[in-house]
Amino acid sequence: MKQPIAVFLLSILLLLTSCQAAPTLDGSPIATQILPVSSTITDSPLPTLTATQKPTLTPFFTMTPTPVPTETPRPEIAPTLPHTDVSFVYHGDREKPYVALTFDLCQKPELPAWFDRGIYDVLTRYDVPATFFMGGDWMRTHVDETLLLASNPKFEMGNHSWSHPDLPGLSEEVISKEIIKTQNLLYQLTGRQAKLFRLPAGLYDDLTLSVIAWHGDLLFNGMSKPATRIPLLMQTE
Ligand SMILES: [Zn+2]
Repeated sequence: MKQPIAVFLLSILLLLTSCQAAPTLDGSPIATQILPVSSTITDSPLPTLTATQKPTLTPFFTMTPTPVPTETPRPEIAPTLPHTDVSFVYHGDREKPYVALTFDLCQKPELPAWFDRGIYDVLTRYDVPATFFMGGDWMRTHVDETLLLASNPKFEMGNHSWSHPDLPGLSEEVISKEIIKTQNLLYQLTGRQAKLFRLPAGLYDDLTLSVIAWHGDLLFNGMSKPATRIPLLMQTE
């Protein structure tokens, strides 16, 4: 019977000491021993963490708002170009060793065309200039590809009508719409103005030529023939 009593008394003692320890945390020497440890742990890493995070975070906040206002104000209508004389370009100076590479990106709305990425890749890899005649309806369905072509400053972008119709026999109003719609979409997407026009299927009559000249586009015809009107030319070996 004596042992259980002793155990009981011991446990009360232990309880008392543990209960006493808690209130002494406020002012006793035990509490002062804990604080310096915790203060050394919390003080040293925190300033270094916040110091490294702040400079890296703030530039992102200042950079993101800036591109938004610069990209929005492009108007949907391309500026009017000065009227030109009718000027066909069939070929360049044949005494000079130059070729002009031209490509048509066109489709009729009912016959969607595709994009040969390999041509873009090869021309870009070898830094070769070229002219792309952009159909309006093709650009409408190939916005990313249009932007990709426009990203290369050595690529000239021309106008190839909106829906690739046979222009002879169409009214002045319809021909104008074919040119202006294409001109506006190219400008809207890329900020570029086409200064060359390629006739769909190479077909034209007097009215076609005068309407195109009125809108300030040079004519570029002769699909398989090289020309020197292209601003950037590649010299042959
Ligand atoms: Zn075409």
